[in-house]
Amino acid sequence: MPEKKIYADIIIDITNEKLDKIFQYTVPKELEGKLAVGTEVLVPFGKGNKETRGYIVGFSETPGYDPAKIKEILAVPGESVGIETRLVALAAWMKESYGGTMIQALKTVLPIKRKEREREKKTLVLLVSPEEGEKRLRWYQKKNQKARARLLEALLSSPRLDYDLAREKLNITPPVVRALEEAGLLLTESSRVYRNPVQAGRKAGRQIAYTTEQAEAIRRFSEDYDRGLRRTYLVYGVTGSGKTEVYMAMIRKVAEAGRQAIVLIPEIALTWQTVLRFQRMFGDRVSILNSRMSAGERYDQMQRAKKGEIDVMIGPRSALFTPFPRLGLIVIDEEHEGSYKSEQVPRYHARETAVERARLEGAGVVLGSATPSLEAFYRCERGEYVLLRLPSRAGSGTLPRVRVADMREELKKGNRSIFSDSLRELMADRLQKGQQTMLFINRRGYAGFVSCRSCGHVIKCPHCDVSLSAHRGGRLVCHYCGYERPMVRTCPECGSPHIGGFKAGTQQIEEMVKREFPGARVLRMDADTTRRKDGHEKILSAFGDGEADILVGTQMIVKGHDFPNVTLVGVLAADMSLYTDDYRSAERTFQLLTQAAGRAGRGEGGGEVVIQTYSPEHYSIETAARQDYEAFYEEEIRYREMMGYPPTAHLLAVLLSAEDEEKLTTASAYLKEFAARLGSSGQLAVIGPASPHVGKVSDVYRKILYLKSEKYGMLVKAKDRMEQYIELNRGFRDIRIQFDFDPVHSF
Ligand code: ADP
Ligand code: ZN
Ligand code: ZN
Repeated sequence: MPEKKIYADIIIDITNEKLDKIFQYTVPKELEGKLAVGTEVLVPFGKGNKETRGYIVGFSETPGYDPAKIKEILAVPGESVGIETRLVALAAWMKESYGGTMIQALKTVLPIKRKEREREKKTLVLLVSPEEGEKRLRWYQKKNQKARARLLEALLSSPRLDYDLAREKLNITPPVVRALEEAGLLLTESSRVYRNPVQAGRKAGRQIAYTTEQAEAIRRFSEDYDRGLRRTYLVYGVTGSGKTEVYMAMIRKVAEAGRQAIVLIPEIALTWQTVLRFQRMFGDRVSILNSRMSAGERYDQMQRAKKGEIDVMIGPRSALFTPFPRLGLIVIDEEHEGSYKSEQVPRYHARETAVERARLEGAGVVLGSATPSLEAFYRCERGEYVLLRLPSRAGSGTLPRVRVADMREELKKGNRSIFSDSLRELMADRLQKGQQTMLFINRRGYAGFVSCRSCGHVIKCPHCDVSLSAHRGGRLVCHYCGYERPMVRTCPECGSPHIGGFKAGTQQIEEMVKREFPGARVLRMDADTTRRKDGHEKILSAFGDGEADILVGTQMIVKGHDFPNVTLVGVLAADMSLYTDDYRSAERTFQLLTQAAGRAGRGEGGGEVVIQTYSPEHYSIETAARQDYEAFYEEEIRYREMMGYPPTAHLLAVLLSAEDEEKLTTASAYLKEFAARLGSSGQLAVIGPASPHVGKVSDVYRKILYLKSEKYGMLVKAKDRMEQYIELNRGFRDIRIQFDFDPVHSF
């Protein structure tokens, strides 16, 4: 009797929709018992039996077709890294839910491609007593040696510091480290692998007394955990309400049960202070990932996670795929952030993907935000997530006073400058008192909307209730349904000629600030000034060190660092994000304004905020000024319900692109016809095709279709059917098609 053969199901590592299926290979004797789901293998592929890489996604004992034609696996490549079996299941779910090919999904859950040489790890260790350190710190401060002071201060609060982290997050250069070394203050320790060393980073006696609300949130989580309940929680609490303390307590609970935790934080908000807080509680059993690390460094951290050397991994979206052996908890801080949605195929959302990974691995999920996404809050209302509230600030600091400046009134008074009278007065006051001001220019995304400066009226699509965008050639276009009308010359509401596009650049504003306040020291932070590595951290630490009176910047300045000396925040052009061309514009505006306001008054004295706008009566501005999230939510969810936008329904964007404009137009019309026949009316609506705001990118034309349905599954089915249709239809040959479920970013 011939021996029984084992067959492996393999996904070939070639990104091509036509090859996006499973191929069977036999397992050779010498590899039996050495392969697992997720193992990378070399196989002969195609007519020429070209040696190709692939991943095993399953095994069976029966051949899928003629056994004589099934080829054999060649080998396991020496330097390869297997994907955890459970992550393969997650990849399959991602492919199903978000589109793209299986190999693209596998590559997403496998953040590091190849084994890299392990790198040396350096740690900075404080050598002197706290008293001696304090003395030297004062000396550095007196001599105005800020970088040295910064490093010493950090060492005093955590006597063991990761060298790379200190360089990056504290903006410390090697000469500064050498200077402290030569002064006998620190020692640089090298080791190849870092084990759980002395937990010197842990501050003895650092026990905070939780507030009643914190204690309640921790208790609910712990009780569920002990009863084996793994749920998704939303910690909804204003900035400074102590959410991070709550996450850490929950992680400790999980770690004590021998399980590990992933903490997702938007990269821009992942500050030194945050990492330090986690290190103080978990010592060196914490690691971080970020996009600036090399593949090798990331590989090291992933290996440490896999080997069980750490309990907590902190990082941006991709840290979600950390291969922990016994995952217990996934925390997503600032869960409302757009950066949690991938802009590459598969266009997954970290929130939903975390919930699925947690389900597969028996872990819990904790989301946190001061301004929860409509999605998360809606699911709490429906009982899918558990809502945990932290309504008041935990430590010091009071909520700032917010006032709204009506720019229409300023125009009537004859004030044509970018500053309202009240903002100008307050700025002068702060300059005189030696306090700092942040000027935030709302430049989120593209804003081609047209509005009236006399009455605030905005030109909108009559069908979609989103703003029309000005396109070249004097047309106003809806980016959802394609509705068009000619550009207006006077306001249809009040007849004023002051109607047009909205323009405000950081550079112009910086110049105007300098003209208005000639003595003021001004720093600017935008895409230009932060292009260089660490540019972002450098500007923030300079501002934190008091090197400027006024910081002018885009939304980058509203995250992260606390600046106790900032007592005034001015929001210029609050309307900019209010009327972008998509259904999330009000939500984004509310989030940005609330966060910007939160920057004022972190210190003792409280602070003031001035929001400048042409639409003071808009609910997102009104509720943000009152800092009333729930009132905002009530209004916004009604709008979503009425228009059939997420989260009450689902939206699938189909982006078509091609070099031949005519072929593209024909193909998108055909695809629309096809999609429209997929569901009966009421179940599935198709709108468009429209031209996205960037209708043409380097000679490639783009069109977009939207499918709406109350059922997500309906959209998944529609996508599968469209894919089949596209594959069989010659008219789509030179057309690239991408799917985006519940899109977050506009195209
Ligand atoms: P969030 O993450 O909600 O912004 P944090 O956890 O960062 O809030 O807490 C804000 C500040 O308040 C921190 O300095 C933190 O150490 C402090 N804090 C948090 N909880 C307490 C508490 N129960 N007692 C005293 N201080 C606290
Ligand atoms: Zn008007
Ligand atoms: Zn429309």
